Amino acid sequence: MTAEHGIVLITGTSSGIGLATAVAAATAGYTVVATMRDTDRARPLLDAAEQAGVALDLRQLDVTDAESVTRCFDGVQRTYGRLDALVNNAGISNFDPTLEMSTMAALRANLEVNFFGVVAASRAAMPLLRACRGRLVTIGSVHGVVGQPFNEAYCAAKFAVEGFMESLAPVAGAHGVQVSVVVPGFVKDTSFGIFPDINRRTVQAASGPYAPTFADYVAWIGSQGWEGAGQLSQEVAEVVVDTLRAERPPFRVPANRWAADYLGHKLTDRDGSTVQTLARTWIGQPDN
Ligand code: NAP
Repeated sequence: MTAEHGIVLITGTSSGIGLATAVAAATAGYTVVATMRDTDRARPLLDAAEQAGVALDLRQLDVTDAESVTRCFDGVQRTYGRLDALVNNAGISNFDPTLEMSTMAALRANLEVNFFGVVAASRAAMPLLRACRGRLVTIGSVHGVVGQPFNEAYCAAKFAVEGFMESLAPVAGAHGVQVSVVVPGFVKDTSFGIFPDINRRTVQAASGPYAPTFADYVAWIGSQGWEGAGQLSQEVAEVVVDTLRAERPPFRVPANRWAADYLGHKLTDRDGSTVQTLARTWIGQPDN
């Protein structure tokens, strides 16, 4: 994909990494279809775009709403006749008061956005991406590889995204679509934040018999220096744009050094190239 004239659709651009990525990609020369579930929340994005001197194509897309997904991707097809890249960014955070104290509805709601939302957008984009030999980039998380206490549903969803994309990557690659997962650690300037106070109090109050364990965890978080951990959404956006531009991006792209090291708690194949090389041989694509 060339930087100029490529059409990139990004989900969840009303704030945080999505907003920064929309502006960074437009600045890099892409035509950006910036989507959000409620376009009344577009002011911060439009202000940032104006400040950067770039134009965006703003469209409504709720990744949990099948009709909205179809309408949006059909609209892109009608307007441009092509799509060169999808950036799956939309997501929701939540610290659950553990499995027992949560509800099935709350657990399902998390996976509905963080996993099935990614699947729905990717599914709709894939025919267009295949036609352009495009890119499918998803914002994962270090918590999609290493589990985190009191964050079971979010971690499950991000683990699912990793497994889904790792499985899809060799097959999509055989049809010209490169699949990558960009993996941030802690992004300091988004509403996810590092453990917002409001969530901490709510979870503490709702934790029942787990409250002391939760308090221990919160105390441990507070006792850590987190040197080098945090990064800004703008930095993640630049990693996403680099991934869109790279001739052969790796499957897994840690968004900073800290995230790469953190993945090392569990992975020897931190960028996913060993697994991808292996899996390509299984589908007759060793050199793809
Ligand atoms: P954020 O500022 O809260 O952004 C999340 C975005 O997703 C918002 O624009 C939100 O829109 C949108 N969204 C939520 N539900 C949606 C839906 N059903 N359909 C479409 N859009 C929806 O947080 P962020 O940190 O930038 O998060 C972006 C991605 O980075 C997420 O996938 C997250 O898991 C990942 N990530 C974040 C961190 C971190 O520390 N911040 C670390 C690792 C990974 P509304 O304005 O409508 O709510």
